[in-house]
Amino acid sequence: MRDYLLNMSNPLINLLDYDREALCQLLISWGETPYRGKQLFQAIHQQGITDISEITTLSKAFREKLREKTAFQWPSIIKEQRSKDGTCKWILSLADSNCIETVFIPEATRGTLCISSQVGCALNCQFCSTGQQGFNRNLTRAEIISQLWIAKQRLQIHYPGQQRIISNVVFMGMGEPLLNLNPVIASTRMMLDDLGYGLSKYRVTVSTSGIVPAMQRLKDETEVSLAISLHAANDELRNKLVLINRKYPLSSLMQACRNFFPPDSRHVVMFEYVMLHGINDSLAQAKQLSRLLSTLPCKLNLIPFNPFPGASYTCSTPQAIEQFKQLLTQKGIHTTVRKTRGDDIDAACGQLVGNVLQRKGTAPIRIPVDQITNIEST
Ligand code: SAH
Ligand code: SF4
Repeated sequence: MRDYLLNMSNPLINLLDYDREALCQLLISWGETPYRGKQLFQAIHQQGITDISEITTLSKAFREKLREKTAFQWPSIIKEQRSKDGTCKWILSLADSNCIETVFIPEATRGTLCISSQVGCALNCQFCSTGQQGFNRNLTRAEIISQLWIAKQRLQIHYPGQQRIISNVVFMGMGEPLLNLNPVIASTRMMLDDLGYGLSKYRVTVSTSGIVPAMQRLKDETEVSLAISLHAANDELRNKLVLINRKYPLSSLMQACRNFFPPDSRHVVMFEYVMLHGINDSLAQAKQLSRLLSTLPCKLNLIPFNPFPGASYTCSTPQAIEQFKQLLTQKGIHTTVRKTRGDDIDAACGQLVGNVLQRKGTAPIRIPVDQITNIEST
């Protein structure tokens, strides 16, 4: 596989940065037909072609023009790890030497790719190792879609044929996707596009800690599934665990969830709840959670806490998790417990660290909660 490092000063157009519509517009501006844009988009994303000369459906003259003006620029793989349970993790180096992580989790009936949306995260949730790295920058559209593009190719190489298909994508890697909304929306469109990755809207999930105003834009501009990192059923505790709750408290978050899917939709909101020993795992808290969730159609996924060096929490006991689950199930909430995968390669939820370079000074960047809406432009 050839690796081109993304070079910011490179004047060539990066073809991975364009969704189908944008590619057609670009080609129209060159005097070509939109049909050429469709063919090119399909070749790049559906067929995974990395060399213009291989796109034989395009005329020789047009391929020459493309070679002059464009390039494929994707992050380079600096490490590829495969767990004994089949989970794969890639550490990808970006042009500015920051690194992000992407994880593939195979299951009996599906294969889920967990992708990153930012280098680090500014939101500083205490139980999350990405949060402990601080924030460096948002990923571009090309850097987001490249994770799928690279993973698809690597899985084809390791498991030829139909053995390891990416059927689901979750934005549950590094970063808060709703603080990098434009590239996240554009990349979900490429994932859903039938000439791109052709994924079902039920199988592309954006997970958020609760950036309420961005949820409305996500709903208006793309069709995806929604996961909310809840972790507490009252503001007092959530203010401590998920600091962004101080800006967007539970009442506004739950209202935004109720608005997200039409009442007759097959879609339901998925709530994630990390199980922290002695913090949020009592039966009284399970009852409070069942009351909160009874106000909308939803599913609940309990995530056993995954430790990382320096973490100040421990995971709830298996008995506590089971009792918590049973109570919620009895109250009519569809509740599952997430299996921890890839623990021999530190690929589980909340363990991704990449290599988040510090931008200025020595302290990691953590944006104060009241300035959170400004992050997108940084
Ligand atoms: N920023 C987004 C998406 C990335 S985090 C969000 O917070 O939703 C993906 C999921 O992993 C979230 O539900 C997050 O709360 C959870 N998570 C973070 N740290 C964890 C840890 N150490 N153990 C288990 N889950 C964790
Ligand atoms: Fe950021 Fe999500 Fe980690 Fe919180 S849990 S620090 S929002 S990545």
